[in-house]
Amino acid sequence: MTQVAPSTVPGTCEHPSLALVDTVHGRPDSGGHDELSSPETATAWLIDCGLVAPEVGLQEQCRSRLVRFRHDLRDLFVAQISMDVPSPKAIEALNRALTSAPGALLLRFGHEVRFFRSVEHPMTQAVDHAMAIIAEDAAALLTSADASRIAACESDSCQQLFLRTHARRQWCSNRCGDRVRAARAYARRRAARNIDAT
Ligand SMILES: [Zn+2]
Repeated sequence: MTQVAPSTVPGTCEHPSLALVDTVHGRPDSGGHDELSSPETATAWLIDCGLVAPEVGLQEQCRSRLVRFRHDLRDLFVAQISMDVPSPKAIEALNRALTSAPGALLLRFGHEVRFFRSVEHPMTQAVDHAMAIIAEDAAALLTSADASRIAACESDSCQQLFLRTHARRQWCSNRCGDRVRAARAYARRRAARNIDAT
């Protein structure tokens, strides 16, 4: 199993909803990769984000629910970025995740970890709980002043969403910014060479 380094895309540390949308890296047709491609990697992602307890192991059915939810969240965020009307299906999915949150977080005790809280099993409840936290985060973000800072990386080979750290920020990361600047510089050099050749 490949371990993915924690994301440094602005906004993803504070917002699990953005982090979930950004679990797809690059475009599938250009060698992109998906952190939720198997139940094992999806489990690892949820554990890394502190959204499920370390003993949880997702089944395929839960993984595909999470992937569908990611798709709906992207719909909502993209509607916000482009000032479009979101799909009713995506709003419905978010509200379903919010309202299907399992009730009480029980207090538990382990000798090494001491007090901690977790939902009653079964596994699906752990995933419901994680999805409810993500849904709550997305609903809060979309209705906050920070909603206007949600942006999509302008690099063609990237589809990460992020929170703008300043008004003119165009890239999710320095890597994307450097790549686009290098591509533009190459295009300019080529254009200059073509002009010289004529
Ligand atoms: Zn990017």
